[in-house]
Amino acid sequence: MTTSAEAAALSVPTLLDARRLVVKIGSALLVDSASHQIRREWLDALADDVAAARRRGTEVVVVTSGAVAAGREHLGLVGRPLKLEEKQAAAATGQIRLAHAYQETLARHDVTVAQVLLTLEDTEERRRHLNARATIDTLLKLGAVPVINENDTVATSEIRFGDNDRLAARVAQMISADTLVLLSDIDGLYTADPRKDPDAAHIPVVTELTPAIEGMAGEPPPGYSSGGMVTKIAAARVAMSAGCRMVIAKGKRMNPLAALEKAERDGGAPCTWFLPAAEPSSARKAWIAGHLNASGVLVVDDGAVRALKQGASLLPAGVAEVEGAFERGDVVIVRDREGRELARGLSAYGSDEARLIRRRKSQEIEAILGYRGRDEMIHRDDLVVR
Ligand code: GLU
Repeated sequence: MTTSAEAAALSVPTLLDARRLVVKIGSALLVDSASHQIRREWLDALADDVAAARRRGTEVVVVTSGAVAAGREHLGLVGRPLKLEEKQAAAATGQIRLAHAYQETLARHDVTVAQVLLTLEDTEERRRHLNARATIDTLLKLGAVPVINENDTVATSEIRFGDNDRLAARVAQMISADTLVLLSDIDGLYTADPRKDPDAAHIPVVTELTPAIEGMAGEPPPGYSSGGMVTKIAAARVAMSAGCRMVIAKGKRMNPLAALEKAERDGGAPCTWFLPAAEPSSARKAWIAGHLNASGVLVVDDGAVRALKQGASLLPAGVAEVEGAFERGDVVIVRDREGRELARGLSAYGSDEARLIRRRKSQEIEAILGYRGRDEMIHRDDLVVR
């Protein structure tokens, strides 16, 4: 925990530094609590901010809530708390409206929107995690803005996120984002609940999630939001361990991202930054290096040994032998012919395919496997050389 003066000395990053940005938008911001309608004016202003970020080269992913809130009225589900199956029904109705609203508003800036609905399992299971990541990566490369929500209609109660704070953090981790913004109805973390305690002090920067910080989380707020400070702190834990910085900022005002940038320029924004110790890539690599169960081994030739030591990816051509049974996305050990361990990494191919394409040129992959996968057996971003 730091004071404002210490925060200034810490050279807190700004939103303008973000290269890959995940913005989480809560239901209470997007959907009017009285009319149950999407707040189009607010959304239009937010879309202007997103378009501005993209123009300066920042990749933007939106994680949006609001499906249940925007859908319930259309099913006559208002004025009382909903059962899980009713929420799921409401989400099915509201999600279409949400996606449509984002599509329309970003089309004003010629930005294409892509809907991605994820479940908890999609982010926990490594192969699905990698597939989702690849899809989102591709969308970003193609210039689209992925708009993500939990797949509420199929998620069952035991295995759902239930709140988009943690979903957003998991997405940020999944795609190695460097910045996560949680737009909320509160401008960050306080030493106590500011609605109840007049002495509650705002905390501008958190560099470590101590038990004292966790203790400040308090109760979730009433109304639409599923989250509260508890899920935001949990999100911070996920983001920080992935090397992603996170900020909680107030979102109710118009143009909340631009407002945050401006306030930062003017010296000190009313928000809380959570700063990780590690950079995104090193955190990801730590995950790979720290993996306990490698499911297979790739034995590589001398040329590949030299290339790996110089930081290159492992190509199929350099793989002499494939041992064990593994699936695409599993962690495998890379050994030289003498059996020395050189590296660990995530194989872009399962063991059956790897056996077929070993010693072959990347251009031949499509003809051999019948589809065009990655050129690399292990991309250098997925590789930790010892
Ligand atoms: N996925 C839920 C929805 O779209 C929201 C979860 C949350 O409130 O964070 O309604």
